Amino acid sequence: MKSRNNHLKCPICKRDKELAQMKYCATHNEAKEKLQKGYESWLKAYNILSWDDYLQQLLSLEGEVGNLIRDVAEYELYFKQD
Ligand SMILES: [Zn+2]
Repeated sequence: MKSRNNHLKCPICKRDKELAQMKYCATHNEAKEKLQKGYESWLKAYNILSWDDYLQQLLSLEGEVGNLIRDVAEYELYFKQD
C-alpha cells in the first residue's frame, strides 16, 4: 500500500524530511548541495559538461566520493522524473 505521506519522506533513505518542501532529508540535502558545488567547479574546468555527464563521471570515481553524495548522484541520475 502506498503511504499517503510519501512526499514527506526522503526518496533516498525513506526517513522523514525535516522540511516538506525540500526534496531530501537534511543529510541528503546537504550532500546534494555539495554535489551542486562540485558541478560548478567542474563546469569551470571542463566548459561543457552536462549534469548527467557530471554525475556519471562522479560515480565512476571509485572511493573518492562519499557515500551520501554517491546516493544522491545515483538518485539524480536514475530517478530524475521530477
Ligand atoms: Zn535521506
